[in-house]
Amino acid sequence: MKCNYMTDVQIVDDVEEVIAEKMKNDSEDAFFVADLSDVVRKLDKWKRLLPRVDPHYAVKCNDDISILSMMVSLGMGFDCASKAEIERIIGLNVDPSRIIYANPCKQNSHIRMAAKNGVSLTTFDNEEELYKIAKVHPECQLVLRILPPDDIKAQCQLGMKYGAHPKNWEQLLLKAKELKLNVVGVSFHVGSGCYEAKAFSAAVRMAHDAFCLAKTLGFEFNLLDIGGGFPGHVGAPITFEEIVSDLKPTLDELFPEESGIRIIAEPGRYFVASALTLVVNVIAKRETENEQGEKSIMYYVNDGVYGSFNCLLYDHAVVTPEFKQDYTGIKHDSSVWGPTCDGLDCLNERIRLPELFVGDWLVYKNMGAYTMCAASNFNGMPKPNLFYVVLNGIYKKLKNPTLVDNLSPRTPLIAVKA
Ligand code: PLP
Repeated sequence: MKCNYMTDVQIVDDVEEVIAEKMKNDSEDAFFVADLSDVVRKLDKWKRLLPRVDPHYAVKCNDDISILSMMVSLGMGFDCASKAEIERIIGLNVDPSRIIYANPCKQNSHIRMAAKNGVSLTTFDNEEELYKIAKVHPECQLVLRILPPDDIKAQCQLGMKYGAHPKNWEQLLLKAKELKLNVVGVSFHVGSGCYEAKAFSAAVRMAHDAFCLAKTLGFEFNLLDIGGGFPGHVGAPITFEEIVSDLKPTLDELFPEESGIRIIAEPGRYFVASALTLVVNVIAKRETENEQGEKSIMYYVNDGVYGSFNCLLYDHAVVTPEFKQDYTGIKHDSSVWGPTCDGLDCLNERIRLPELFVGDWLVYKNMGAYTMCAASNFNGMPKPNLFYVVLNGIYKKLKNPTLVDNLSPRTPLIAVKA
């Protein structure tokens, strides 16, 4: 079966050259270049360093259909948060057993839809959820989402919204038992964009406590879900390697292979953050003076916080532009603004930049996670174009039968224009 979402993929030797080439074109519109090879490299690294953990990509992070179909072709699982995300993944012929509906507070009709489509693994952290599931999806396998230790630092904290406190575990498990529901394991999320490598192993230890409690209550858990939060780009406060060096021995100690416990994860930004580069055009410019009476320049570019840079507001991201042009002149106090008429729409409030001109390009790297998925057309501003590339070396590897061997027969193969 061929997946025609991938027909516009360009096979290239160098992604930077593609960006430079697109900048030379007539258009002044902002654009993304998505390097799908980066996703492949990330999966290779994951499998090398954490081979026992089966990644279920968090679709919310970037639900672009070509990126998803690439992941499908690589045999990845998926974490869906809603009916629409489940529909999107099922629509790519993914077997429902490869989906975890990882939202502890779901709408009834969405649970019903999951049941109808054979998605029967979901998280919960409260009693009301158990009543709903007992009513509309009683066969569903349930995963108790616990609240990880509370001193964890992350770009986006999630503990204030989700996760059962240890003091509530027993009551929740007993209620599930009373309702004849099938609780099969434990999940946690240390926070999106976690800053603390040891947070994962600390949460695994806590999950182990929950496994022990469940055993005393007569449950036989067989699933550990270590959530998301893994960094996705070079320059992040912690590296994937640092997390793994602490996490892997803890998993091996508390959940050894012989235990037969399946371990999954829900990484989002890890897989897509560095895959997308956003290139914006300087569409306007104003000169002012700073407090010292020196020249200060305001640049207006054609994507902003109501578009792909919503990550500045929602994801607490900080972005810094790079240039492809050579600038040798002196740097000035500058600011970079989005295209809408709102004063909030600012990408860089204070930054030293060489003098730029209308028509110049600014390049923002690491723009794949929590960017285009929450972008709006506020003020009628268009979303950037999106171009896909795959590095030639990796493309050849994709066609290598050993890589596609382990795909489910229902998984579409990538169809790329050769
Ligand atoms: N799983 C759940 C339940 C989430 O809420 C999120 C992000 O909010 C993720 C996974 C993905 O997190 P990250 O992108 O930090 O890996």
